[in-house]
Amino acid sequence: MVARRDDEFDDLAWQQRALCRGDHASSFYPPLHFERKDLRLTRERLAKSICAICPVKQACLEYALRTAEPHGIWGGLNELERRELTNRQS
Ligand code: SF4
Repeated sequence: MVARRDDEFDDLAWQQRALCRGDHASSFYPPLHFERKDLRLTRERLAKSICAICPVKQACLEYALRTAEPHGIWGGLNELERRELTNRQS
């Protein structure tokens, strides 16, 4: 059991270097209320610009694909783009 917890910790260590931590975190997820398309596109564009320079982008995307993360921007892709990528790879 201990080894498994270590593995899980190592697996998520990349999150410590995530650029989305802090001030811009809200840009990576839709609000709880309705979001107009133009506002969603603007929010996602900001989030993706941060992902573009993030040092853990690949680890983040692989994690989101492996866990089928259903919401938000991960590794520079939104949920629809990740679903399309998964479908193309299967
Ligand atoms: S790639 Fe984007 S969502 Fe993933 S850790 Fe980096 S900034 Fe956050």
